[in-house]
Amino acid sequence: MMDIRKTRTCERCKAVVLLDQVRLYPKSDNKNFLVCTNCCEELKKARAGQIPTTDLKTKKLLPSAFIKYSCTRCNYNFKADDSKAGLTYNLHCPYCGKADRLQKVLSKRPGVPGVKV
Ligand SMILES: [Zn+2]
Ligand SMILES: [Zn+2]
Repeated sequence: MMDIRKTRTCERCKAVVLLDQVRLYPKSDNKNFLVCTNCCEELKKARAGQIPTTDLKTKKLLPSAFIKYSCTRCNYNFKADDSKAGLTYNLHCPYCGKADRLQKVLSKRPGVPGVKV
């Protein structure tokens, strides 16, 4: 006959288990589930499965960022979408078609005097 003092009832599956097979599983801030080892494992698995995996779907597209470029090869200035450059197309000078002499032209921001570009 089982000694009732050394057993607990699993709060999840209601199985009577020995004290050394009882686990405490955090339920909320100050409360714990008193569960058997099986239920503890299942709860852990269930919690692990709750990690959201839908982030990829809701990932925002980068906003377009048109950056001024200057081709020092032919001194041609043009604008390109910096967020797409290197991803959907290879940045190149539309005039000479080369990409090796391109420089970003940082526009002077109003209100910030004295900043050298
Ligand atoms: Zn259980
Ligand atoms: Zn060029």
